[in-house]
Amino acid sequence: MMEQFTEALPKVELHAHLNGSLSEETIQRLISLDTKNTFTSAETVIAKGSKRTLKDCFDMFQIIQRLTADAESIKYATKAVINDFVADHVCYLELRSTPRGNSATGLTKRSYVEAVLEGIEECTKEHSDAIEVRFLLSIDRRLGIEEAEDTVNLAIEYKKSSKGRVVGVDFSGDPNARDGREYLEILKKAKQSGLRLALHMAEIRGLQRENIDLLSIPPDRIGHGTFLHEELPCEDIVRKRQIPLEICLTSNVKGGTVESFAEEHHHMHRWKNIGQPFVLCTDDKGVFSTTLSNEYRIAAAESGMTRQELFDLSKRCIDFIFASDDVKTRLRWKWDTWKEQHSSLFL
Ligand SMILES: [Zn+2]
Repeated sequence: MMEQFTEALPKVELHAHLNGSLSEETIQRLISLDTKNTFTSAETVIAKGSKRTLKDCFDMFQIIQRLTADAESIKYATKAVINDFVADHVCYLELRSTPRGNSATGLTKRSYVEAVLEGIEECTKEHSDAIEVRFLLSIDRRLGIEEAEDTVNLAIEYKKSSKGRVVGVDFSGDPNARDGREYLEILKKAKQSGLRLALHMAEIRGLQRENIDLLSIPPDRIGHGTFLHEELPCEDIVRKRQIPLEICLTSNVKGGTVESFAEEHHHMHRWKNIGQPFVLCTDDKGVFSTTLSNEYRIAAAESGMTRQELFDLSKRCIDFIFASDDVKTRLRWKWDTWKEQHSSLFL
């Protein structure tokens, strides 16, 4: 069964937003801890087969944000999400989130970052060497340049003080909000400070100008890139620089930006056919009701990839992580050992 294979396969998750990754169980638990709010978990789950617009999804994220408005909830949520990924045999995880304050609970952007880092620290200790976790601070493009500057300054500071856990900056949020070019200088500053960049790009059509400018930085990875191949100068730059794409199949289809997983609709096939590096990711596994194993299973079903090809794809992801070369070496060894121990699965 392909399903059992993709579950057992060691995997790397590089595009996971903390809030969107909360499972229904975790959301229920947060609701039960919160006496002031009256949320229903049904609001945060997309029923199988239904399609929500991108706007519906962003509304849902805001509900979850209200449930994670204090340091304790954030730490709890971080640990719960890491545990979910461990259960799905993810061996290396990059979580991303926008630091935000809340005057009612005394939360500051700094204590937000600290809470996530504490969650990572405690959880990885509990799991010993089952998973390595890194953290990307997200710039939310709806919030403007001052907020973005705060985020990048925190990322620079914690890159030095977090024992290598903060490794980069993500650029995300509603693609209809603002012009991405407003953030060009601050993203360049982040890059010059040694932070790695994962930028959401071309999630909707009509962003060609900002895409060209963002590519000039250049980013280390591209989130989605859904319509990049329709923009010839962009496609050429991405190909020439071999920038890996983070492909989130279920997210694209349930979010309504792509019609189906099939070759005529989903951009994964095009990039795969021309040999562009890409990684499979969940984006928001809670909101979109998926797992990374499920994304591998869908990719295999839609493209005909064999078990060997799926193994090669998951191992190749190690090349694109933002952690050090030492970590990459350790992970490659882990993948090779796993394959030796599971050789019968490839027959
Ligand atoms: Zn995303």
